[in-house]
Amino acid sequence: MTETKSTCPYCGVGCGVIIESQGPQITGVRGDPTHPANFGRLCTKGSTLHLTAASPVTQQTRLLHPLHRSQRGAAAQPIAWDAALGMAAQRFAGTIAQHGPDAVGFYVSGQLLTEDYYIFNKLAKGLIGTNNIDTNSRLCMSSAVAGYKATLGADAPPACYDDVKHAQCLFFVGSNAAWAHPILFRRIEDARAANPGMKVIVADPRRTDTAGMADLFLPIEPGSDVMLFNGMLHLMLREGWVDADYIGAHTTGFEALKALVADCTPERVSAVCGIPAADLATAAQWFATSKATLSLYCQGLNQSSSGTAKNAALINLHLATAQIGKPGAGPFSLTGQPNAMGGREVGGLANLLSAHRDLANPAHRAEVAALWGVADVPARPGKTAVEMFQAAADGEIRALWIACTNPAQSMPDQATVRRALERAEFVVVQEAFATTATAQYADLLLPATTWGEKVGTVTNSERRISRVRSAVPAPGQTRHDWAIAVQFAHQLEAHLRPGAPSLFPYSTEDADAGAEAVWNEHRESTRDRDLDITGLSWTLLEANGPQQWPLPEGASTGKVRLYEDGIYPTADGRARFAAHAWQPVAEPRESRYPFALTTGRLRDQWHGMSRTGTLGRLFGHVAEPSVQMHPDDMAQRQLQGGDLVHVTSKRGSIVVPVQADTTIGRSQAFMAMHWGSEYLSGQSSTGGRLSGVNALTTSAYCPTSKQPELKHAAVKILKAEMP
Ligand code: SF4
Repeated sequence: MTETKSTCPYCGVGCGVIIESQGPQITGVRGDPTHPANFGRLCTKGSTLHLTAASPVTQQTRLLHPLHRSQRGAAAQPIAWDAALGMAAQRFAGTIAQHGPDAVGFYVSGQLLTEDYYIFNKLAKGLIGTNNIDTNSRLCMSSAVAGYKATLGADAPPACYDDVKHAQCLFFVGSNAAWAHPILFRRIEDARAANPGMKVIVADPRRTDTAGMADLFLPIEPGSDVMLFNGMLHLMLREGWVDADYIGAHTTGFEALKALVADCTPERVSAVCGIPAADLATAAQWFATSKATLSLYCQGLNQSSSGTAKNAALINLHLATAQIGKPGAGPFSLTGQPNAMGGREVGGLANLLSAHRDLANPAHRAEVAALWGVADVPARPGKTAVEMFQAAADGEIRALWIACTNPAQSMPDQATVRRALERAEFVVVQEAFATTATAQYADLLLPATTWGEKVGTVTNSERRISRVRSAVPAPGQTRHDWAIAVQFAHQLEAHLRPGAPSLFPYSTEDADAGAEAVWNEHRESTRDRDLDITGLSWTLLEANGPQQWPLPEGASTGKVRLYEDGIYPTADGRARFAAHAWQPVAEPRESRYPFALTTGRLRDQWHGMSRTGTLGRLFGHVAEPSVQMHPDDMAQRQLQGGDLVHVTSKRGSIVVPVQADTTIGRSQAFMAMHWGSEYLSGQSSTGGRLSGVNALTTSAYCPTSKQPELKHAAVKILKAEMP
């Protein structure tokens, strides 16, 4: 038996695993006791990774050879790698020649490794000259990016997991960490047990498992978070709980914010948020006066048409009370996917560039062009996730390359996404699994390696970079994601820059050497940036284990906590208060659509269930899809648990069993995000076939972060006629 240290491929906690293998088979997995994220623990998903890898369903659904469809709807036929990549290069080059570089787009994933992300970004922005590259991480954390940048000056979570031990007050907002970040939650439970004086506040429309540990639960109305935070600041000001010295020495913009929150009185907050004024006062007092307050937040803030405002309004509270830059304090956004952070670091989004540079900044564009050896990086803004599929549906983007993600299930307003995939003239899907909803639209299917086979690095929620190592050889004809992109780039260079030296001089024969070369190039791009990792080599990761950034040249360990000196990465070194008034959700409930539908994760499933859906035991927690409603709403509609109902929004309708649930309020409904076409079929409002909860969700998005409002859609729920 061979043992290989690697990282769990599921959530942003980023737990270390030890993979046991025999020849080409993964035979076991256990937590890595030396990994600082989990110290040997794994949750139900992580501890069954070897079983999902060995599941007969996985064996049947793995994509092992390149496949080509001669026309849409036809059976996919095997094609040789060289022919497949040659065809892709020809189609992309032809589209670019005829319609310009912005007629192609790349949609990638927070489950790619940092090296994969880096190459795709360079391919789009450096070689092709389009900024049309975005990621499914847009759906989970772009509001956190925008919130940090607007206030603290850089996209850098200032806290770390160890801070849960030092906190005296934990403020969970829009985070069900008990299910979405289980091993971090175990650490929080331990910290709580060791510190009975710790106060826990949970603000969430649903009384989640996380809320089960709350000393104070605030069941706020969906979308009312900004009003909650502004109301807390109003009270902090009134009671003298703000830290005037810190505000004066380390921030700007407080007067404008003070004026904004003047009318966020407890009465008004109570009316908008639906919570008692006394609870608001308790929350404000605990937050401001505790020795150290740590906020933990996730999709409830991010997946919102006012996501940036929600993030900024929460960070305002930390700045106003000096609950930042000390042990146990700070605004700590939790990432959903295993490498959403790595994607941010390499600038793998339409509006970003390598190493936290901004596309809109001419100096940053020039720096990246020089690093890559190209004349320039185009200034034209790229299409973000929702915009990209809308542009394809409108015929503006004609060739799409989709890697390691399943937008036909996971994107909101699925009808538009499917129209885009149908209309695009050429769709490449690079995937480990052949059966995703998106794969059905592919002209070309390229088989990629997956967990246990891949090589590279990922960064978790606390800025910690860990190695991902291969325990078994790549099966069939699968190739590593970065290597597929490099080989495609080589073919495309023959069309776009014939005779010129390649921009992608990495060996794809030796996976370790090639991936390390990509890493080294990424590392150099961070020199003198806030996330400087010029001191971090793969040799150091091998010797000292996972490390947090920044870790500049000369350092031997990374920085545990940021802003301890009160100096922020802004032009004047001060953090900026951002004054945002509360805005209602994009699609408020109304008489025809009287329920607020929210979506979220289950404890034991992951995304579209390509992996977790292969294992019966992971259905032990929740066996089948349902829409959950308050029992009073069910009684009013004469619904019994298990009855089939039509859940209908302005965009589509699905049929699903209803279940009573007292964890949500009246006029609200909840559905898990995981179930796709195998389980839940439905129709768009114009008659097309759809599946899953995203048949219903809206693509309305935050104007700053462009993150869609997956947490709120207005729906009606009506009993289905029985056959
Ligand atoms: Fe994997 Fe997240 Fe579970 Fe850790 S907490 S084992 S990273 S799914």
